[in-house]
Amino acid sequence: MNIYDMTYDDLVEYFKTLNLKPYRAKQLYDWLYVKRIKSFKEITNIKKEIVSKLENDFYFDKISILKKESAELVHKYLLKLSDGNTIEAVLMEHDYGTSLCISSEVGCNMGCKFCESGRIKKIRDVTAGEMVEEILVIESDLKIRISHIVIMGIGEPFDNYKNICKFIEIVNNSNGINIGSRHITISTCGIVPKIYEFSEFPYQVNLAISLHAPNDTLRNSLMPINKAYNLKELMKAIDNYIKKTNRRVTFEYIMLDKINDTYECALELASLLKGKNCYVNLIPYNETNNLGYKRSSKENILKFYDTLKKNKIAVTIRREFGRGISAACGQLKTMKEEA
Ligand code: SAH
Repeated sequence: MNIYDMTYDDLVEYFKTLNLKPYRAKQLYDWLYVKRIKSFKEITNIKKEIVSKLENDFYFDKISILKKESAELVHKYLLKLSDGNTIEAVLMEHDYGTSLCISSEVGCNMGCKFCESGRIKKIRDVTAGEMVEEILVIESDLKIRISHIVIMGIGEPFDNYKNICKFIEIVNNSNGINIGSRHITISTCGIVPKIYEFSEFPYQVNLAISLHAPNDTLRNSLMPINKAYNLKELMKAIDNYIKKTNRRVTFEYIMLDKINDTYECALELASLLKGKNCYVNLIPYNETNNLGYKRSSKENILKFYDTLKKNKIAVTIRREFGRGISAACGQLKTMKEEA
């Protein structure tokens, strides 16, 4: 088993089966995530017999950097998993810290019409351990510590729910990478049953919903998931989530020229979200060569923003990152494969 797939509690249990005390888990997490060893041989404070047992039961999986593009405050990585599959991760430097956008699946089955990732069908889940490694490999490459994680790369996190929950447990553990749950954001296209399940999740993680349209007709045409779970069902699940967790939800809304950026859309969106503990993040669309959608003009984005504001909806416009380096979800991977 990949050692990075082990939660802290898994290790406590593991050592228990060897009649060893729980503090061994703390020691091992320290070696893995504070000292960042690459092999069990580097361990010095655990008995040789135990180390050989570890070597026997676990391996260090290794993901590697296949390609990297950097612009001012953004570094985009194409990463190779140990079975040869590739995923992307993007590191952004903000004034409040550094956030890493990680991939949760190899490919994606959600098929959103405007998204590059949807063009590559899902091949498999990314494991919890591999998501952990996305952090380790990039921290080591840039010699930085990542303060925030957003699960907004390739894939639909709620289509890989168990691994996502395990990943959060691992990175949040204070003996290991220790990223605060409030610094972790999951973005979903709206898999309703999982939103209910997630409202019981014991970590205070942020939830973002890729909304992108204020009515079913438009949302059906952009996001096939809406045909499975329409806006009424989605909003009901989100109301339940807000009630259970008392947490504010983010709605992401990419601005597509003449598609979802009209005054009518803004009014409809305001009425859909009225009274909810939420805010809207307007995202200037990253145009890609293959999909034919255009980014809304700056002027239209600002008008849309004003209409929401006037209707008392909390709203921000996402700062632009990585436009020059094809940092839109899935772009680096599809470019590489079609080159
Ligand atoms: N499947 C999840 C997470 C991955 S996509 C989800 O749907 O939320 C992360 C976000 O990037 C989503 O809001 C998605 O709609 C958006 N996105 C996809 N392609 C984009 C593009 N070309 N420009 C801007 N945002 C894009």
